Amino acid sequence: MTTPFFHLRLHPAERVALLRSVVDRVRAQVARGPAVVVFDLDGTLMDNRPRVVAILHELAIAWATRHPAAADACARATADDIGYGFIANLRHLGVVDPTLHEEGLAFWKARFFQDPHVKHDVEILGARSYVKACYEAGAVVVYLTGRDLPNMALGSFASLRDLGFPIGVIGTELVVKPTFEMPDADFKRAVAPELRRLGTVVAAFDNEPANVNLFLDAHPESHGIFLDTQYAPDPCALDPRAQVIASFDLDT
Ligand SMILES: [Mg+2]
Repeated sequence: MTTPFFHLRLHPAERVALLRSVVDRVRAQVARGPAVVVFDLDGTLMDNRPRVVAILHELAIAWATRHPAAADACARATADDIGYGFIANLRHLGVVDPTLHEEGLAFWKARFFQDPHVKHDVEILGARSYVKACYEAGAVVVYLTGRDLPNMALGSFASLRDLGFPIGVIGTELVVKPTFEMPDADFKRAVAPELRRLGTVVAAFDNEPANVNLFLDAHPESHGIFLDTQYAPDPCALDPRAQVIASFDLDT
C-alpha cells in the first residue's frame, strides 16, 4: 500500500534505531526527572479496522431480508477492505445505492463511537511490546485519544487491559475528550501543554499529521512520530521535524 507519506517512512533499521533511541532517552531523562511518552490509540497503537468489519457483519444481518445483495457484500468484508470513511468502505464493497449509504452510515455511527465495539480492536504490530518497553524504562505512559469520556472511556480502558498494554498502574494515564463533539485537534492542542504536569515529553506518537505537528510545537525537544496507517482525508503537510513509521516492529 502506498500513501502520500510512504516515501517518508524510515527504513526498518532506521525505525528500530529511532524506537530504541526513544527508550534510551526515557532512561536518560528519568535520571533527572519524570519522562513522558504520549500515544494516540486509533491508528497508532490500535488497528480499529476489525471494529468496522464487526459493524459491517452486523449490518449484513440487519439488511439480509430487505437488501440481500448489499447484505452479502457487507458480510464478505475483511480488514483489508477497510479504509478511512464508512461510505467509501461501502462503495468499495459494491454497495452503490445512496440511500443505503445514509442508512449504513447511521448504523456505523451508532456503534463505532461506543464502548461495546472497542473490544474488536487489535494492536498495531509491535505496539504492546513497545509501550511496555517505554514503561519499564521508567516513562509515564499517556494514552491520549480523541475517544470521548461519556461513550468510549470504559471500553478503551478494557481494551488496553485485554490487549496487555500497561494500564491501571502508577505511571499510566488514559486521557479522553470531554465531549464527542469537540474536534480532536482542538482537544489535543489544549492538552499538549498540560503534559508538563507529568514531566518532560520525550516522544509523541500519532497517526494524524496535524496532531504530530501540534505536539512538536508544544514540545520542540521531543520526537514527533507519525504512524503512517490511516488518517482523515486531505491531511495537512507533516512538520519536517517529524519522523514516519508504519509499525512498532523491532525486527529489521
Ligand atoms: Mg488516531
